[in-house]
Amino acid sequence: MSKIQMTTPIVEMDGDEMTRVLWKMIKEKLLLPFIDLKTEYYDLGLLNRNATEDEVTKDAAYAALKYGVAVKCATITPNRQRMEEYPELTKMWRSPNGTIRGIMGGTVFREPITAPFLQPAVRKWTKPITIARHAYGDIYSAVDFKTEEPVECKMVFTSERGTQREYLVKKTDGPAVFLGQHNLTGSIENFAKACFMYSWDTKQSLKLAAKDTILKQYDTEFIEVFNKEYEKNWKARFEKEGIRFGYTLIDSAAASLMTSDGGYVLALKNYDGDVLSDLVSAAFGSIAMMTSVLVNPEGKYEFEAAHGTVTDHYYRYLKGEKPATNPTATIFAWTGALRKRGELDKNYELMTFAEKLERANLQVLADGFVSEDLIPALEPDFEYRVTSAEEIIDKIAERL
Ligand code: NAP
Ligand code: MG
Repeated sequence: MSKIQMTTPIVEMDGDEMTRVLWKMIKEKLLLPFIDLKTEYYDLGLLNRNATEDEVTKDAAYAALKYGVAVKCATITPNRQRMEEYPELTKMWRSPNGTIRGIMGGTVFREPITAPFLQPAVRKWTKPITIARHAYGDIYSAVDFKTEEPVECKMVFTSERGTQREYLVKKTDGPAVFLGQHNLTGSIENFAKACFMYSWDTKQSLKLAAKDTILKQYDTEFIEVFNKEYEKNWKARFEKEGIRFGYTLIDSAAASLMTSDGGYVLALKNYDGDVLSDLVSAAFGSIAMMTSVLVNPEGKYEFEAAHGTVTDHYYRYLKGEKPATNPTATIFAWTGALRKRGELDKNYELMTFAEKLERANLQVLADGFVSEDLIPALEPDFEYRVTSAEEIIDKIAERL
């Protein structure tokens, strides 16, 4: 059989622990036999980040900007406990995802992988719901403080030219707490661009939710920025695809989450996105059925699984066990990258292969060969056998 050819490389970011083990199996058994795989490889494993003083992470992010499509394995973000586990570490290196997002910019979209044998907590959800979180500003870079005695709290703005504006927040007569937060119009514009791009890419309608009835300046800015971007760059394209863009109040958006059957992208402010993305992913069943895509405003993509390196499974693997880890989200990170590379290069064989690999993966699970994490999410009379990541990958290879 002749292998599928590629013209442009995918930026490959290797990682840590159990997901690094899966990464190698996926490449050897599911990709290399079928594709003449071209990647530009960066080893983002913790020890190599340490050896390169984290330069490798930056290089990888710049390569993603250069080529436009990257796939990333989960990586360890060192904390105090990891510093003890790896005494050779010279520094508590930053989160690679943070570094990459800092360089690429953009928005993270978390999309669940749905399948008929999985029963989400909300029975009506038959299609994925993607949460787009605006990961800049608001309470995450706010100033908050507490006062004990009566105070008059004011916000004062001094422009570069020296003009001043003053707003009274509150005059208090007892202990109180205060908060000052901001957002940047430029950051909201980039968020809007990424949201429209992702929705159009995945052919799903886009909903923006906020609370403009209360925050008449702050939240209205989000609506205006989105409306402007929509009218200017997307309206015609959306109409052609039969998808829609609209704004709803956040409380009503939360309520309709529970009554809809899914299949749309929900764009949220930072805190709303923080809360609802964890809620939606837990309600869909397993973190290992959740993919995550970073889309920057210039249309560069980085695909990954939403879960981490699955440390406990890795230590069992080192002892000679074959843990029942779910490879699905990591496989879908690869298929996401292959499909996008195919789209950009008009490489239809590569796109078709991505489709087939996803189907083979879901068929193997549907045949009842499942990993541990899926058990609580399975349909009640579903017959299954819990098996190792390796066996699941072997079965997918057979199917392919
Ligand atoms: P995690 O690796 O996602 O694992 C949390 C738990 O979720 C696991 O113990 C396991 O539960 C279950 N799980 C996650 N993925 C699974 C899979 N594919 N198959 C089966 N079960 C799965 O999160 P963590 O333990 O909080 O973090 C571990 C390391 O990952 C940390 O060093 C952290 O820095 C890193 N991390 C990296 C990323 C990233 O690179 N994007 C994201 C998150 C965390 P059971 O133990 O019950 O089986
Ligand atoms: Mg959270």
